[in-house]
Amino acid sequence: MDQDFEYRWCKYCLAKTKQKIIFVPKIPTYKRRRQYKCTVCGTETWLLGRRPSAESVY
Ligand SMILES: [Zn+2]
Repeated sequence: MDQDFEYRWCKYCLAKTKQKIIFVPKIPTYKRRRQYKCTVCGTETWLLGRRPSAESVY
C-alpha cells in the first residue's frame, strides 16, 4: 500500500497541516474523494483529490 501525504486545510487546526491519505478509491469515479487524516489532531476528513485529471495513470 502506498502511503501518501498532502498538505491540506484542516478545519480543526485552522491551518494547513500534513495529512495522511488513508483511503483512495480503487475505481476512478467522477467525484473522486479521498480520506485524509490530519497528523496533528488526528481528524479524518473526506476531500476531493487535488488533481482530478492528472491521476488517471494505473
Ligand atoms: Zn488537524
